[in-house]
Amino acid sequence: MINIYTTPFFTALVGLCLGSFLHALAHRIAFEKPILRKRSHCPDCDILITWYQNIPILSWLALGGRCCNCKALISWIYPFTELVSAIAFTLVWHYLPLQSPLMGVAYSLFIAALIVATTTDLHTFTIPQAASLWMAPVGIAAAAAQLLHISLLQSIFGACAGYISLWLVNFIFKKMRGIDGIGVGDMELLCMIGAFLGPVGVWHTVMIASTVGSLWGLLMYLLHKEANGIVPFGPFLALGACCQLFLARQLWYVFTFGF
Ligand SMILES: [Zn+2]
Repeated sequence: MINIYTTPFFTALVGLCLGSFLHALAHRIAFEKPILRKRSHCPDCDILITWYQNIPILSWLALGGRCCNCKALISWIYPFTELVSAIAFTLVWHYLPLQSPLMGVAYSLFIAALIVATTTDLHTFTIPQAASLWMAPVGIAAAAAQLLHISLLQSIFGACAGYISLWLVNFIFKKMRGIDGIGVGDMELLCMIGAFLGPVGVWHTVMIASTVGSLWGLLMYLLHKEANGIVPFGPFLALGACCQLFLARQLWYVFTFGF
C-alpha cells in the first residue's frame, strides 16, 4: 500500500500551504506590519478573511482575484507564490538526491528564503536581510555539517564570490553612469545563494538571471514602451538559483561546452 504522506501529491499540498504562509510573512515584512498579527485580512478594507477564502490558489480563482467585500484587486503575487512553493518543495523532496531528511530540511530553508526574497522584491523592490544575508551563515553551517552537495570551502568561497561579483558590477556601472545599477539587497541575496550553491552556482545563477532579466526587460519595453521601467532583479536571481539547484549537471554541460 502507498503511504500518502510520502507521495509528491502530499508534498505539493504542504508546499501550497507553506507558500501561503511565506507570502503572508513576506507581505508583513515588506510593508513593516507586525509579524504576529492575529489573522489574515484584506489590506484595503481590513475585513477578516475566513478560512474558506484563504485556500491556496483556489480561493483567488473563485474570488476572481478580488476582495469579497471591497472588490479591491488581490495581487497575482499571492497565487504565484503558492504555486511556485508547491513546485519547488516537491522537487526538493522527490527529485533532489537527498542523503538524509536533514539535507531536505537544509534545501527547504534555502527555497523558503528565495520565496520570501522574491515576494518582497516584487511587492516593494526590497529584499529583507533575514531572507538573504542572515541565511548565508545557515548555508555555510549546513555545508560544514555535510547537509549540502558542496563542501565547506565551496560554501564560504561561494558566499564571498556572490557578494563581491555584484558589488564589482555595480562599482563599474556607477563609475560609468553615476548611479547605482544593482541594489545592496541583490548582492546580499547572491551572497546567500553562493553559500548554498558554491562559486560555480553563483556563476550559473548570474548568467541565467541576467539573460532572462534582460529578455524580460526588453519584452516589457516592447509591450509598454517605457524606457526606464525598473525591473526587480531578485526574482531572476532566485530563478537562476533554482535552475542551478535542480539542473546543476545539465547546466554544467551547457556552460562548459555550449559557448
Ligand atoms: Zn477588501
